[in-house]
Amino acid sequence: MLVFKNAQDFQRWHKEQKESLALVPTMGALHEGHLSLVRKAKELADKVVLYIFVNPMQFGPKEDFGTYPRTPEADLEACKQAGVNAVFMPEMADIYPEGKENCTKVLPPAELGDILEGHFRPGFFTGVATVLVKFFNIVQPNVVVFGQKDYQQLLVVKRFVHDLNLPVTVYGASIVREPDGLAMSSRNAYLNKDQRALAPRIHALLQEASSKIKDQNDNTAIEKNLDIIRQKFKDASFELHYLEVRDADTLQPISNNTKTRILLVAAKIENIRLIDNLLVN
Ligand code: AMP
Repeated sequence: MLVFKNAQDFQRWHKEQKESLALVPTMGALHEGHLSLVRKAKELADKVVLYIFVNPMQFGPKEDFGTYPRTPEADLEACKQAGVNAVFMPEMADIYPEGKENCTKVLPPAELGDILEGHFRPGFFTGVATVLVKFFNIVQPNVVVFGQKDYQQLLVVKRFVHDLNLPVTVYGASIVREPDGLAMSSRNAYLNKDQRALAPRIHALLQEASSKIKDQNDNTAIEKNLDIIRQKFKDASFELHYLEVRDADTLQPISNNTKTRILLVAAKIENIRLIDNLLVN
């Protein structure tokens, strides 16, 4: 397995390749969820590049950029085991040569980028879209593989790839969960024993919400049922940022045109913020 720490070396290697390339973007602290993306990427292309970059532009001033888990040695070992062909872990100056404040940015449309996660984390999707366009340009993959765990992010990526005519295919892979239902996440490493015991309630309450609303079409009745679940989150001592049912194609409120519905949640256990989602039906 090759490891590249700057863009020039990576691109020199890339120029010599004739095979198709799949990219798996990550912020490191790799777990089974990330490795499932690698396995999917290996099915979709001849070679797999995984990048690890904790992107400062997508963290708010009060968020956890400084403390975000960083486990580079374990990550490299996991990549080797998983059959990744090249790991790209660039320096900050490679990605933000003029600094992150001063660089050209990619602004997703408000209807997608300013709702849900974007509402609670202003600028988050600008940070995500900007860094991804940079990595797409450096790596020039044929396909990129994302997890549906970050469902809104997946739609934002599909949208800017479409809007900016980027020559790349976007693939969304299923959520990988712990045996008790908790969606795997690098941030799960922050959870102490009691918090870890509470965290699977997020998925359990999503399932409960899904079974309550799956046969309902009346918005008032759906909202009433969601209110019951929202209260259950609060009773279980979560700070609920949102629990919403949306159109899975647009993330707009459901309408008569909605084909698939999705439940999306963001909830905090003390200062640890977790997100999850579940397709309804
Ligand atoms: P992150 O390192 O958190 O930025 O995540 C990198 C990629 O891994 C994103 O496309 C995530 O959606 C995906 N991912 C994270 N957790 C999971 C999971 N539990 N199942 C599937 N994909 C995941």
